[in-house]
Amino acid sequence: MPELPEVEITRRGLEPHLSRRTITGIVVRHRALRWPVPRDLDALLKGERIRSIRRRAKYLLLDCGKGTLILHLGMSGSLRIVRPTEAPGPYDHFDLGVGDVAVRLRDPRRFGAVLWHAGDPERHPLLAHLGVEPLSGAFTGGILHAATRARRAAIKQILMDHRLVVGIGNIYANESLFRARIHPRTAARRLALGRCEQLAAAVRATLENALAAGGSSLRDFVHADGSPGSFQQQYFVYDRAGEPCRSCGTPVRRIVQAQRSTFYCPACQR
Ligand SMILES: [Zn+2]
Repeated sequence: MPELPEVEITRRGLEPHLSRRTITGIVVRHRALRWPVPRDLDALLKGERIRSIRRRAKYLLLDCGKGTLILHLGMSGSLRIVRPTEAPGPYDHFDLGVGDVAVRLRDPRRFGAVLWHAGDPERHPLLAHLGVEPLSGAFTGGILHAATRARRAAIKQILMDHRLVVGIGNIYANESLFRARIHPRTAARRLALGRCEQLAAAVRATLENALAAGGSSLRDFVHADGSPGSFQQQYFVYDRAGEPCRSCGTPVRRIVQAQRSTFYCPACQR
């Protein structure tokens, strides 16, 4: 599943091709994505100039002045730059044409989204309740500490709660807790401010690391299969049950929390 770093890399890859370009046409080959693609999208967008392409959580927001095109990659989606004449594959459901190139959405499982919102995109029902961006200055140990004083839930669950902080999926929650040396089952309210600060820094470092790993896929972005999928990354604990901890050699342990696998080092994370 595309996680926040993949979406951010996608945004960076698309930006030079889309920013300040005029939309010349829309092709919808399969309207039934997670939500139906709006029927009037071509009429709404044709001739509009894309002012900017931003990211909020895992949504890409194309500001067209009179409204915003909202894109989400769902479980299996990818966006890439193609020549509009390039023959589409069976999962290429949507094209956004900007003259001599088009952005093409490929989404085999069709959990992705192509939506239009006329008002402030931050008030769209899908975005209105989202928490802070983990790579922004707003995400601090102080925020984490203040939000968790009454929370009995395990810190891993809290990290993955998008109402507090967005875009931390299972992989990055596991990796961040290892970096901060915090046991994933720790009750959130038991973490002192200093530990919350370490955790916020660990989240940032983990995501920055993933962005750096994905940066190498940027140069391939316009190639036929150059869309960023999962980056080649070495994880500290994720998916490494039974293998030695990269820090101390103790076998990594796997438990299940809220139906998701959790990996941690029983020696480093107490
Ligand atoms: Zn260890």
